Amino acid sequence: MGKVLIIGAGGVGQVVTHKCAQVPEVFEEICLASRTLEKVKNIASQINRPIRCEQVDADDVAQLVKLIKDFKPDVVINVALPYQDLPIMDACLEAGVHYVDTANYEPRDEAKFCYKWQWDYHDRFKKAGIMALLGSGFDPGVTNVFTAYAKKHYFDEIHELDIVDVNGGNHGHPFATNFNPEINIREVTAVCKHWENGQFVETPPMSMKKTFECPENVGTFTIYRLYHEELESLVKHFPEIKKAQFWMSFSDNYLKHLEVLQNVGMTSIEPVKFNGVDIIPLQFLKALLPDPASLGPKTKGKTCIGCICRGVKNGKELEYYVYNICDHEECYREVKSQAISYTTGVPAMIGAMMILKGIWKGEGVFNMEQFNPDPFMEALNKYGLPWKEIFR
Ligand code: NDP
Repeated sequence: MGKVLIIGAGGVGQVVTHKCAQVPEVFEEICLASRTLEKVKNIASQINRPIRCEQVDADDVAQLVKLIKDFKPDVVINVALPYQDLPIMDACLEAGVHYVDTANYEPRDEAKFCYKWQWDYHDRFKKAGIMALLGSGFDPGVTNVFTAYAKKHYFDEIHELDIVDVNGGNHGHPFATNFNPEINIREVTAVCKHWENGQFVETPPMSMKKTFECPENVGTFTIYRLYHEELESLVKHFPEIKKAQFWMSFSDNYLKHLEVLQNVGMTSIEPVKFNGVDIIPLQFLKALLPDPASLGPKTKGKTCIGCICRGVKNGKELEYYVYNICDHEECYREVKSQAISYTTGVPAMIGAMMILKGIWKGEGVFNMEQFNPDPFMEALNKYGLPWKEIFR
């Protein structure tokens, strides 16, 4: 049915490549390209189908356009880093190809987490007659689709939304992040914002916490309020939401290490001179920490990510919780990755599939909640991320 170009051979890229390869009737040809060719070849060697391997610097639009024009994909899945979103979108525009990503653009020198830069491409994508699907991971991604599904089937109005991301897994390292450490630490140390009564309210990072009991005996965890990018698009597309918050679990051990690293300046993104060379402490820290892709064989336990919606239907108040539970070890058995990469890579594949099959159609730049959630929800059940519902 189509050709897919996957950019980024990291933890998520590995899962996307495995999952696309499992659906040959949709993804007839696959090309994986990244900065380090060795990583591309390593992923391709795990898969029982021919994968075209390419080296590309995704910061360089000309290189990307050359690759796209040569391979002629129908869709590009960007699972490199958020810094590459705009050059890859530029290349897709120039070559006339649909675009999918899992994280919003961030400039390197400022952790801002906002969709403005990418939403500004809407008219250009529309004019080119192509589609950009933003944030097709789990959160953002599935959490947006969960919210759209809740609204479509169960609510006249959603008034409160809590997105809860619990990782009950343990990798045995004193400190490691489950996805790219630089992006993860930028997110966790940023000022918290949540939506309340028509505006974003700022609070200090990690200053709000509570206890959350996951269903199905996954466990009870301390969750901390953070800013997360899907809040911006969800309150735009569901303007009736009065309060929207995002919560993530962290272990005491993770927080202890993070606090020390912050106190000594290791999480800073401001360059410092060391032996006459400018280094960015956070990038240096990334070089010291375990590669998230290496955590796969060591991680045990489960993730539990979902949305709690409170609102009204036919004048009656209702609380609805929709969630997925994913087992780190089962993911590793299937695609040699832990559940964080898995829960991101599967929805990226499904997003591309929705476009290739013509189920989600549009010209311009879109967030996930703007489309019919039902076929995506069905695909989650079919391709490895089954979900459940609790009504209260
Ligand atoms: P990794 O760091 O493991 O992988 C990123 C890959 O991109 C690396 O292979 C890296 O290459 C490659 N890359 C970086 N810069 C370039 C460049 N200029 N040109 C070509 N390739 C480049 O990250 P993850 O796989 O953990 O994360 C991938 C993306 O997924 C990130 O944007 C992250 O924010 C997002 N994500 C989204 C989630 C969601 O639920 N929505 C959850 C988790 C992650 P090299 O190895 O050579 O450095």
